[in-house]
Amino acid sequence: MFETLPALSPDPILGLSAAFKLDNNPKKIDLGVGVYKDEHGNTPILKAVSQAQAVLQERESSKVYITPQGHQGYIDGMLNLLLGEGSSVLKDKRVAAVQAPGGCGALRILAELLVRVNKDTVVWVSDPTWANHMPLLGDAGLTLKTYPYFDKDSASIKFDEMMDCLKGVKKGDVVLLHGCCHNPTGADLTNEQWDALAALAVKNGFLPFVDVAYQGFGDGLEEDAYGLRLLAESVDELVVAASCSKNFGLYRERVGLAAILTKDEKTASIAQSQIQSVARGIYSMPPSYGGALVDIILADEALRNVWQTEVAEMRDRMITLRKLLVDNLVNQGVDKDFSFVNQQKGMFSFLCIAPEQVQHLRQEHSVYFVDSSRVNIAGISLANVEVLAKAIADTLKA
Ligand code: PMP
Repeated sequence: MFETLPALSPDPILGLSAAFKLDNNPKKIDLGVGVYKDEHGNTPILKAVSQAQAVLQERESSKVYITPQGHQGYIDGMLNLLLGEGSSVLKDKRVAAVQAPGGCGALRILAELLVRVNKDTVVWVSDPTWANHMPLLGDAGLTLKTYPYFDKDSASIKFDEMMDCLKGVKKGDVVLLHGCCHNPTGADLTNEQWDALAALAVKNGFLPFVDVAYQGFGDGLEEDAYGLRLLAESVDELVVAASCSKNFGLYRERVGLAAILTKDEKTASIAQSQIQSVARGIYSMPPSYGGALVDIILADEALRNVWQTEVAEMRDRMITLRKLLVDNLVNQGVDKDFSFVNQQKGMFSFLCIAPEQVQHLRQEHSVYFVDSSRVNIAGISLANVEVLAKAIADTLKA
């Protein structure tokens, strides 16, 4: 019976990785898949994670199922990290949350829950947004619409147009926001822009849905939570999907958090029962391992410090690489002003060049990234940045 289904084309990013592997050019550069890489192109296990693994090895005495909501220590640690230690929402017990299988799992659980509330819910996503938002939210039954976000010509956020669009969004509609390090553009709202957005959310009554996949990769763990924390303190209701894949380097362990902030404690307990029932209908209990590691790291001051230092090292490396790329492009005599790359945050930037130029870079210089011109900054290195800048310079002249 499955022959009746159409064959689907491969994911463009995974197709790019396959093409990269087959390329024999010793100077090839991979700026495609969104994982952090060190100077040698590796994605190592963080030291804090290795140490937590040793602790867990000693501590764990059974592989029996964990509870449907996940490790409570993990949930509490993550909520403090996201919302801040002194969060009034936490003090007032207005939060329902479960450990989820990755940020993707969190997004999907929350989408299913929103469908339970109202099957006709509309979710507004930024144009552009992370490509996976569409299946994760849309396949659950939510209707997706876009709000203007990024202008490729000026390489900047279209904030006025975004606000004009969101002013027209109905009460009860959902607005998906990237907490920090916007994927794919790297262009984040300023604190003043978050202030205006939070005021609009309060006034119009739309439900903010904040996706936090890169906390600590922009300006710092605290700084990157500005928008989320402001919204949490401003509105009655909010949903949050968080991922530990990038900032804990726990990609394959699939660890994330799905949280709902409600208007009062009673509603939070209703939401808790519903969110667990959604999870039950998909996978029952979350995988234990990654959440147990994050719990150990966040609860132990010394280990937490080791982790924070490692997050800072990853962040600083990406900031340095941004600057190096821009400086090297200037050295190559490129006319186009790429200084916007220095303002963008986190792992990604849109280079704001045409798809034909992206293809030229791939075909003539073995530099691989997606046609939208999104590059993984962490794929640049001290060793390849000059080659990369030369390739871009050549392509812009072609
Ligand atoms: N949201 C965004 C914006 C992301 O970029 C990612 C990872 N690429 C995720 C969520 C989910 O991450 P994961 O499921 O790997 O934890």
